[in-house]
Amino acid sequence: MTERTVLTNANLFDAVRPGIIPGATVTLDGERIAEVRDGGGARATSGARVIDLRGAYLLPGLWDAHVHLEWPRVPQASVPELTAQYLANAQRALVEGGITGMRMAGAPHFIDVALKRAFDSGQLVGPRLVTCGWFLTTTGGHALGTGFALPCDGPLGFVRTIREHIQAGVDHIKLNLTGGIMGPAWDRHTDTFFTPDEIEAAFAICHQRGFKVMAHAASPAAVKAALRLGAHSVEHGYVMDEECLALFRARDAWYVPTLGITHLTPSQATSRWEKQWVEQRGLTPDLVARAEAAVDEHRTWFRRALTAGVKMACGSDVRPVREGALLELGLWVKSGATPEQTLRAATRYAAEVSGVGDQLGTIEAGKLADLIVVRDNPLDDIEAVRSLELVFKGGRLVADHRA
Ligand SMILES: [Zn+2]
Repeated sequence: MTERTVLTNANLFDAVRPGIIPGATVTLDGERIAEVRDGGGARATSGARVIDLRGAYLLPGLWDAHVHLEWPRVPQASVPELTAQYLANAQRALVEGGITGMRMAGAPHFIDVALKRAFDSGQLVGPRLVTCGWFLTTTGGHALGTGFALPCDGPLGFVRTIREHIQAGVDHIKLNLTGGIMGPAWDRHTDTFFTPDEIEAAFAICHQRGFKVMAHAASPAAVKAALRLGAHSVEHGYVMDEECLALFRARDAWYVPTLGITHLTPSQATSRWEKQWVEQRGLTPDLVARAEAAVDEHRTWFRRALTAGVKMACGSDVRPVREGALLELGLWVKSGATPEQTLRAATRYAAEVSGVGDQLGTIEAGKLADLIVVRDNPLDDIEAVRSLELVFKGGRLVADHRA
């Protein structure tokens, strides 16, 4: 017999209807949502576990759509060391942050695939992972010091590596088209790394095999190249132009802005969580200067994309995941999104960009029951997502912070 749980007296944010629905009752049957009722109790509660939420806020589990699990960075870490560290970060984000889903943006040695299998089989408790394996770049490319970037060269080099990824069981392919903010002097976000024949071959093999491309692109030329070649999502987009926005819409592609990369420096940190994170991170003066030189333009394109109706999802790219994901929500609001837009981008739209929107991301009958309960109203203040009380993954209560 499947376990039945009834959540009563919920202030419901279902990520489908606008605003909060007060006095809702949501029934979970096994791993799925069986029923959502506005006002009034559930139809049948006999034999069910009933949890009175007392007006707390019931939301879909949060997602981070741009995740690297390494933290802290251990030079020359072994694969077992990295595996243990990745597991700890993923579990902590789930239990202490309510991050029930993660779309991976680069993990070495297919650790992400191994963890996903362990989480899906129930061997270990962890968030839903949508995996990509290594971050694919070129020799002299981006993120080579992180341990999760794999340099490939020449069309055949990319094709072969992508085929190996498909065989290893990844869900999508991460391609690195340009430099980034965080890197050595020869790795600038305005630099393009691929030659035309490399990028065309990489996209062609992904399309042939039906794999979505998650494209790291930070300049207008690279964003347009990625979109024209059929990228599913563009990550970062620090510098864009109006033609980029038009292409996003024409191609129905996603934009994951990763605001944390340019917005989290000592002079920009305002909330106590931002200040705490900036202090712990201790970025070098060079990287602080690069982030601050890029932030105004990044914020401008974030706002214009939002206004233009580009499909957008929350992804942090900032570690550790619990901190990064929650900081990114605050940065969206600080940069001009409403709390409701932000919450949708971190639930429904993040699940959609991850390719699992039919199963997750909203609170609707039939969907998988990945849910969180927070004490305060996140539509009044987005930081209320930090008042975490309960976390459900697949109908199972995995964290209870009420005591
Ligand atoms: Zn990244």
